Amino acid sequence: MTSQEIAIRIARYSNVKRAKVSAIAFSHSGEIIASAHNRRVCGIPGIWTEHAEEVIIYKLNKLKAFNRFKNITILVIRVNARGITMSKPCKKCQTLLKQYPISVLYSGWDGQIH
Ligand SMILES: [Zn+2]
Repeated sequence: MTSQEIAIRIARYSNVKRAKVSAIAFSHSGEIIASAHNRRVCGIPGIWTEHAEEVIIYKLNKLKAFNRFKNITILVIRVNARGITMSKPCKKCQTLLKQYPISVLYSGWDGQIH
């Protein structure tokens, strides 16, 4: 399976109907360190969506991945019924991701990774 196929599979686990997004973190050697998808959460004070990028950063911190791996790459993929679509991280996630020494790849409207 290619990393894109893995990302699509993980995105399909998302319980967000309109936008299924996954994020996969790879080490420099191509090993998968962590994966995440966005999710709708019901709690206090209501219902919100955790973005895949937020979840993966949380997981990477928990794994102390930033100490253990140099050059982490995160692939962000968004799928709809037709396949991969635009998955550029939102402003909030961009701000979050910029705080870490990582490269971020995401798909454009054409479904290609940039
Ligand atoms: Zn976001």
